[in-house]
Amino acid sequence: MRVFNFAAGPATMPLEVLEQARAELTDWRGSGMSVMEVSHRGKAFLAVAQGAEADLRELLAIPDDYRVLFLPGGATAQFAAIPMNLAGPGDVADYVNTGAWSKKALAEARRFLKVHVAADEAASKYTTVPGVATLRASPGAAYFHYTANETIGGVEFPYVPDPGGGVPLVADLSSNILSAPLPVARFGLIYAGAQKNIGPAGLAVVIVRAGLLRGARPGTPAVLDYAAQAQEGSMLNTPPTFAWYVAALVFQWLKAQGGLTVIAARNQAKARLLYDTIDASGFYANPVAKDCRSLMNVPFTLKEPELEPTFLTQARAAGLTNLEGHRSVGGMRASLYNAMPLAGVAALVAFMREFERRHG
Ligand code: PMP
Repeated sequence: MRVFNFAAGPATMPLEVLEQARAELTDWRGSGMSVMEVSHRGKAFLAVAQGAEADLRELLAIPDDYRVLFLPGGATAQFAAIPMNLAGPGDVADYVNTGAWSKKALAEARRFLKVHVAADEAASKYTTVPGVATLRASPGAAYFHYTANETIGGVEFPYVPDPGGGVPLVADLSSNILSAPLPVARFGLIYAGAQKNIGPAGLAVVIVRAGLLRGARPGTPAVLDYAAQAQEGSMLNTPPTFAWYVAALVFQWLKAQGGLTVIAARNQAKARLLYDTIDASGFYANPVAKDCRSLMNVPFTLKEPELEPTFLTQARAAGLTNLEGHRSVGGMRASLYNAMPLAGVAALVAFMREFERRHG
């Protein structure tokens, strides 16, 4: 029995993808082996790798002068790789602080360069994004980093920042990549951990303008060196082949759904249903400013926090799992990634209304 899994990541996967992976698990394409048992340098796996890149390029309309990398170490490895590849030790980089993941990214960057905080939403307790006019980009910064979607706080940028002055824009899209079309050409570098909208954890996708790969700083480990990885087709060492293969299946699934315009409309409808339910009740509340509520991660609280364990137990019994908020903030959180169907959100809101009727 499949449940509706609202986890923030690792997160729910499209059932069709799981079924295909299962169907070909023990004998992949007539090889008599699973995909995880074949050489990453063999013809068959190279076709998977190339297909994944081609499909991702098509889905996001990635311009030709961008390199696409499939790398180990998740998004956290990129927190370090970005300053190592895009800046020298004395350089300054701008970071926007909109919450937990921004903080982690900028704390890691501080080990490698000078961080200038271009905006900090502490005053709103990280329930807002900075207005376009309040971004204080530093001229001559090596790059300008922001977290497009805060997975824990449930805050999503409704616009793409423009640092100006030719400063490359760098974005952490771990929790909202592929949720809608994206103007890739406005970014210098985009990165995302896979375990929300792409596939299994451990893999990260990096999309970077080729002109920015002028050579990593001395001392950069080879696996974190983007130019070296690009040169080797992301196979400088043995890559996470199974995760890469599943990512390729997810990209095919997204294309079969009709691509990102269709996916974006679905994501809008799902999020609207949940936010409308929360806003219409006097029992549930979402703290985030309306203009920057995340379509992917919806944190909410109950009027009586002591009812939380009951809410979670009964939700689980109704087949609605992993609704607890991040351990650092508590409360509830429903993650509505691409693979969560509208039926899952409909089941959640029906449960929430009934719970409110009984306990409200
Ligand atoms: N950035 C964001 C926005 C995230 O949500 C996460 C993981 N939840 C990370 C970075 C870190 O990703 P990983 O665990 O793959 O390193």
